[in-house]
Amino acid sequence: MSTGAQWQGRRVTVAGLGVSGIPAAKVLSGLGAVVTVVNDGDDERSRAQAADLLRWAAEHEAAGEEPRGSITVRLGDGATLPEGTELVVTAPGWQPDKPLFGAAAEAGVEIWGDVELAWRLRGLHGRKVAPWLAVTGTNGKTTTVRMLAAILEAAGLRTAAVGNIGVSLLDAVLGDEAAEGGSEHGEYDVLAVELSSYQLHWAPSVRAHSAVVLNLAPDHIDWHGSMAAYAADKGRVYEGNTVACVYNAADTATEDLVRGADVEEGCRAIGFTLGTPGPSQLGVVDGILVDRAFVENRQQQAQELAEVADVNPPAPHNIANALAAAALARAYGVPAAAVRDGLRAFRPDPHRIEKVADVAEVAYIDDSKATNTHAAEASLAAYDPIVWIAGGLAKGATFDELVSASATRLRGAVLMGADRGLILEALRRHAPDVPVVTLDRTDTGAMAAAVQEAARLARPGDTVLLAPACASMDMFVNYNKRGEAFADAVRALAAQRA
Ligand code: ADP
Repeated sequence: MSTGAQWQGRRVTVAGLGVSGIPAAKVLSGLGAVVTVVNDGDDERSRAQAADLLRWAAEHEAAGEEPRGSITVRLGDGATLPEGTELVVTAPGWQPDKPLFGAAAEAGVEIWGDVELAWRLRGLHGRKVAPWLAVTGTNGKTTTVRMLAAILEAAGLRTAAVGNIGVSLLDAVLGDEAAEGGSEHGEYDVLAVELSSYQLHWAPSVRAHSAVVLNLAPDHIDWHGSMAAYAADKGRVYEGNTVACVYNAADTATEDLVRGADVEEGCRAIGFTLGTPGPSQLGVVDGILVDRAFVENRQQQAQELAEVADVNPPAPHNIANALAAAALARAYGVPAAAVRDGLRAFRPDPHRIEKVADVAEVAYIDDSKATNTHAAEASLAAYDPIVWIAGGLAKGATFDELVSASATRLRGAVLMGADRGLILEALRRHAPDVPVVTLDRTDTGAMAAAVQEAARLARPGDTVLLAPACASMDMFVNYNKRGEAFADAVRALAAQRA
């Protein structure tokens, strides 16, 4: 926790002029620190951002607000550590092997990410300190954090979904103190915090009340250097937990991380499972989500929380997300009825298993957010039979496991994008009888063609599922635009068939 006084005159290097660097520079200079922002790029955008930041600093100085530090920006050199640096605050995406960090380590200078900074600034100027309920994992983070916030809200708590989504952690922690000024974020009782593996890497002292690693599959390996390093960074979320470390009973790697964590005395390991829960687990019995962990006698008792039908959408992986959110909420002491009310109130973010329309008795589902094979496998497991629309940038992934796990449910497949050939080969190997249409065009109109082809392959009762298992940037600005293109194409198809 911070008093503020310790920042006066402290020389802080902020690495990265971007979504986390700019607010960090503002907050720190507002506390009196002498800030140097360093940035690799010296392009037009960086120059405009730097000019904005410097203008902001000059205006605040002119307004005579105290205490004031200063901001300097150094573009085109993110490698050299500025003279006299006492602390580095880095953008979470900066890779650990950068020379700047080597130089900092050599000089004995600490390196914090945006999350660490927010953690250290809790309680500034006497603000209420809200405990963190933290969520990480390869897939399902955003959904789970939003479900958790909905449950906490249903319990009447002042809360927000923060971190990698929505409200920034700095805003949540500092409220009106945040440098943007006039922030509407009040004081919170408890925060539902989404943390990425990058953020966890740079957050050495964060200690959550309770936390979950939802699942663990290879992702971002190039950044972390190895699967073991990626897992270790995810596992940091359990360090110092005080009440519960929540793991996925179907994913032993998450349980191993709990075992390896150094937690506060009395902190419990709580599992979630899609099957019948054992003691100290949450699970599902006869279509009911039940809690056998946070009850008085867990050997004999279970508490009903909600029905599977209360989960939106009730796909298996999403029920797992709901159980994880419920476990964290229960660890915080939320009553069972609030879990049900919160899950009922929850609405998924767009492009995450979103039903667009039924056309000629075929359901069209947009899961454009399934940008890796692990996510696509989960959404393919939720439907049968499926006409699968896939492809894009594979980011080094292989498709054999995904295709062999899903082959029996495929009515057909429509492939597009840069790495469509990789998926085609996997289909030939593991699902040779499934009809496949490959689109060679990569213009934005390709999605309309894909939907037309999918409609041709589908029969009444089928689901056409956009679950690309790939990133979108080869053809679209981002996964949102890809999902919108799909929805537009489905609506055009509906109009055509009407
Ligand atoms: P994240 O924030 O981790 O990227 P999201 O909640 O945005 O996760 O979901 C991303 C995609 O991952 C979804 O579109 C869905 O396809 C898939 N997904 C969601 N939850 C899970 C889960 N528990 N296991 C596997 N895949 C999941």
